[in-house]
Amino acid sequence: MKTHMQAAVVEQFGKPLVLKELAIPTPGPGQVLVKTEACGVCHTDLHATNGDWPLKPGLPFTPGHEGIGIVAALGAGVTAVKEGDRIGVPWLYSACGHCEYCLAAREPVCAEAQFGGYTKNGGFAEYIVADPNYVAHIPAGLAAREAAPLICAGITSYKGIKETQARPGEWVVISGVGGLGHLGIQYAKAMGLQVCAVDIDDGKLAHAKRLGADAVVNANDGDPIAAVIRATGGGAHGVLITAPSLGAFKQGVGMTRKCGTCVLVGLPPGEFPTPLFDVVANCITIRGSFVGNRRDMAEALAFAADGKVRADIELQPLSAINNVFQRLGHGDVPSRVVLEFASH
Ligand code: NAD
Ligand code: ZN
Ligand code: ZN
Repeated sequence: MKTHMQAAVVEQFGKPLVLKELAIPTPGPGQVLVKTEACGVCHTDLHATNGDWPLKPGLPFTPGHEGIGIVAALGAGVTAVKEGDRIGVPWLYSACGHCEYCLAAREPVCAEAQFGGYTKNGGFAEYIVADPNYVAHIPAGLAAREAAPLICAGITSYKGIKETQARPGEWVVISGVGGLGHLGIQYAKAMGLQVCAVDIDDGKLAHAKRLGADAVVNANDGDPIAAVIRATGGGAHGVLITAPSLGAFKQGVGMTRKCGTCVLVGLPPGEFPTPLFDVVANCITIRGSFVGNRRDMAEALAFAADGKVRADIELQPLSAINNVFQRLGHGDVPSRVVLEFASH
């Protein structure tokens, strides 16, 4: 058996990843070893590599939290999965299971939560160690490369739409039609919502239309808030901001209908100004949303297994990661890049 694996490692923030040969890790008690088949590249991996956020990962680390693979070995005492199962190793790598948030199925905010590809090494490697209690179980019939974007971009956009509390027939704005947004449009349509997609790239907006968006608005053209209010007859009942750009956040609040909810999931570093009078006098809710719980994960995957949602993917080898990051930073990735690993 092989003893070493390829991994793309962050050694310094803001520098290219380094392709390295690392020893294949051994799963400890209660852990499993996963042989990676595919791993999506999320904009979060780019924030992680740049050290964008107040809570920084320890160096060196291996990013990637959309890793899908086959369970190759079990540590002592593991019963939740078996060898040969296809699983995903998500952003929510593990949690304590006992605190008030875990008990309320709010485990992404558990103080003990660990994050895949951030506080734990992730899927930009041929093998990943995982906690079997928090892995995603990939439905039969879903290929690894198709499942990869769902375990972060999919669950996050799906949960974010639920958090808007918009009901069938009502309007949602999906701001940012990238990895998260192109799936968000499909979830929203499958949930019976009317969708207005917002981006700064006409190619992405054309794609949004093909995916079923009822209206599209280019945020760089004229007055995008007025355009959304016109298209939706008074603003969207729910707004989901996935754009990694601060300007999109203030706009998103303005696009929210009276008594509606604006859900923030994009994570550009920084703050955005909030027009207090408008938010108060229009009774607008502004809410953060952070991936989702294990039930949300199963639901998000089920939409895809039922053929209602499909990730658009561009396949690349692990060795292309620095080029992929460069394109992602410039908004030049059409939907989602998935790194595919050789089967031997
Ligand atoms: P992406 O790069 O694939 O897509 C971003 C899209 O936003 C692109 O289509 C881009 O053209 C568009 N955009 C840029 N500026 C815009 C603007 N001003 N208005 C409208 N659209 C604009 O990124 P992604 O992988 O979809 O991730 C998006 C963000 O969500 C990142 O900040 C990421 O860290 C964050 N994220 C958060 C969570 C969470 O749990 N809250 C989970 C995953 C990702
Ligand atoms: Zn992600
Ligand atoms: Zn907890």
